[in-house]
Amino acid sequence: MSSLDAFARTKLDQLESKALRRRLAVTERGTEGIAVRSGPDGARTLVSFCCSDYLHLSQNQDVKRAAAAATRRYGAGAGGSRLITGNHPLYDRLEHRLANLKGTEAAIVFGSGYLANIGVIPALIGLNDLILIDELAHNCLFAGARMARAKTLTFRHNDADHAYKSLKEHRDNAAHAIILTDGLFSMDGDLATISDLVAIARECDTWLLIDDAHGIGLLNNGRGSSYVGDGSLPADLSLQTGALSKAFGSYGGFLCASQTVISLIKTRARTLIYSTALPPSAIAASLAAIDIFEKDPALCAQPVENAKLFARIAGLPEPQSPIVPLVLGDPETTLAVSQELEREGFLVSAIRPPTVPEGTARLRFTFAAGHQREDIRRLAQFVRDRVMPRRVA
Ligand SMILES: *Cc1c(COP(=O)(O)O)cnc(C)c1O
Repeated sequence: MSSLDAFARTKLDQLESKALRRRLAVTERGTEGIAVRSGPDGARTLVSFCCSDYLHLSQNQDVKRAAAAATRRYGAGAGGSRLITGNHPLYDRLEHRLANLKGTEAAIVFGSGYLANIGVIPALIGLNDLILIDELAHNCLFAGARMARAKTLTFRHNDADHAYKSLKEHRDNAAHAIILTDGLFSMDGDLATISDLVAIARECDTWLLIDDAHGIGLLNNGRGSSYVGDGSLPADLSLQTGALSKAFGSYGGFLCASQTVISLIKTRARTLIYSTALPPSAIAASLAAIDIFEKDPALCAQPVENAKLFARIAGLPEPQSPIVPLVLGDPETTLAVSQELEREGFLVSAIRPPTVPEGTARLRFTFAAGHQREDIRRLAQFVRDRVMPRRVA
């Protein structure tokens, strides 16, 4: 065995012994949350409660038609970076719509949500600067922070006071400072305390980046978690990133900000400059998705309503979002329960470290607009009777 294969073998065996090895399962997705999973004993039809396609727009006829029409007219791929090959006209339209949705002067679309964050952070923040990051922020914010090479301090989850104390202590030693957080936390389903963060950022001359990958298209009539008060006021945020791969049902990521910041990002973000533009079909699908949810605010609200119905029956606290975590602690139990759910006809993946902190392996239920009430009830009853007794938090 080569030393490389030996290395890989050892690593895999270590992960396997801790129930932390991950495998890809062949799964075909259908409409309304149906998933067909292939296994050793044939294919099984399941209802998926682990998908971020919250409005089922990836399967929507209008969205698919728009994507297909764009492929026929413009081709399958983009041919290169936007700065070299030329900027596709669909980008301008999508960026206008996103800026409008978020209440900012301008927007720029990236290849994915991950690429947006790891492109934006190091383009604005460098060696002599300070980064404060929520301890439960998404992996791409930590990756962006590492690429920026600034002094990076985590603050306790959703604890603006803790962030404030760190700023008071360290802000003066840094040229620029930035706070990084999810707007809606992807593995916990709770919302950032945005108004508190805005206040401390303003007081301490600190920029604030909210990654709203899960909030956009859902919360506050689709405008996302960055709207405060009764949900109609855009918070005073310098930088708002997000993904077009979740409620939009498409693919891509974005930054919404002032015109000046967007102009700088266009000339400085490496993931924009050195990576190929999105396929025209993905841009067209995102445009069609915005058309749909802007016309139908009730659709945006449905996933959270479904999550609330589930939580009520299962005996869990009322959720703020369509993401409902159930912490079971160790990866072995979590995997076993996920497999029991699969036997009951439900697809709910086990979320294990390092995606979540050690000791907090969990089931993470996500709810979508098209889920049938009867399926939600059946799932909730199973969770109440068979899973709740095994949870640790
Ligand atoms: C999913 C997610 C991303 C990544 O977006 P992709 O488009 O899938 O790359 C980034 N940030 C958060 C908070 C996410 O949940």
